[in-house]
Amino acid sequence: MDVDENQVLLLKKKLKIIKQYKGQGTQLISLYLPPDADRSSVMKQLTDEISQSANIKSQQTRKNVQGALRRIMNYLKQIDFKLPETGLVLFSGEVSPVPSKSNIILMEVVPPKRLTTKLYWCDSAFHTAPLDEMITTEDVFGLIVIDKREATIGVLRGKSQEILGHETSGVPGKFRAGGQSAARFERLREKAAEDFFKRVGDKVNSIFVNMPKLKGIIVGGPGNSKEFFLEHADLDHRIKDMIIGKVDTGYTDETGIKEIINRSSELLKEVGFVKERNLINKFITQVAKDQLATYGYTEVMTALKLGKAETILVSEDLDWLVIKYQCPSCKKNIFDIVKDASLMKETSFEKKCPDCDVDAEFIEELDVYEYLTEVAGNMGTQVVLVSTETQEGKTFFETFGGLGALLRYR
Ligand SMILES: [Zn+2]
Repeated sequence: MDVDENQVLLLKKKLKIIKQYKGQGTQLISLYLPPDADRSSVMKQLTDEISQSANIKSQQTRKNVQGALRRIMNYLKQIDFKLPETGLVLFSGEVSPVPSKSNIILMEVVPPKRLTTKLYWCDSAFHTAPLDEMITTEDVFGLIVIDKREATIGVLRGKSQEILGHETSGVPGKFRAGGQSAARFERLREKAAEDFFKRVGDKVNSIFVNMPKLKGIIVGGPGNSKEFFLEHADLDHRIKDMIIGKVDTGYTDETGIKEIINRSSELLKEVGFVKERNLINKFITQVAKDQLATYGYTEVMTALKLGKAETILVSEDLDWLVIKYQCPSCKKNIFDIVKDASLMKETSFEKKCPDCDVDAEFIEELDVYEYLTEVAGNMGTQVVLVSTETQEGKTFFETFGGLGALLRYR
């Protein structure tokens, strides 16, 4: 099953936060629910855990475990046990380092792949291993080796390679048969090669255009046949945008595919960052011209709500949290942004609905990226997470605060 890339990035970010939490005792609960989990047996297990926890010696730990279990049960009731298609993972526990300040958090994760087994842990740290496994992604690269007589199309998935197509042209060799004029022979040869490049191009289009997780395509071959191919092949513009490099190879069969892989390891490593760099550079250029970009929380939120934001960029290092409340009377969601995670301890989790003036219920803690994705949901705005592994990414975080938007108009 293919996993949505943004979903994986979001999950990576969320897991980073979840892993930071440490319980003072064995009091952090991780619950993995497959989509077909049975409501009554899950609720019964949680109730049983609450009664069993009465045996916990430390009064503080007992209180915390029971508090966490109740938070989970309340949450499951709140969503009426409607589990997402892939299941649901809940992490709950008392994470405040100050015993007098209670802060039982609840974090929810929708797994990118379907859960098959129900799992329950109560430990001093949250259990994320089953989710960690789901997010080890393998980048996919398209590989083409070509000259006038032969072409091989392959794909590299993580570390394994596969041949997807092999074509030969029938273009005659360099030595003409007697009787033909040299010029005419050369023209025929060129024409046959062009036809061959077109044929291979069509095949390349059909193989790669909708390939999930494709990060880039590398073209290899001897001499300048690569350039001729790119020139004559009628490649789909989406495929053209994917060409990340050209590599000289001696062969145009499976050996040539291996040559590409060996010669482009640096190129392959860089590629993940190419898109990111381009995006940040576009953002910086627009900011410098004071045109189609803006940054800062208020500016970005305003642009988003007015439908002006085309793409929102969020730095991986931006560790703001958003507390989500819901009004029990009008069901409106109310959000509080916490820009300094250490202030979470101070938060009372109390909020009034501005319309109904009743106490809103605390629902969950969201990552700021997740929150923006939720708000951007119906605005057709793309929310992109950018790393700080490139110089551009560092600049974006340090100079622009890690939150910016490319605008459709000003
Ligand atoms: Zn209300």
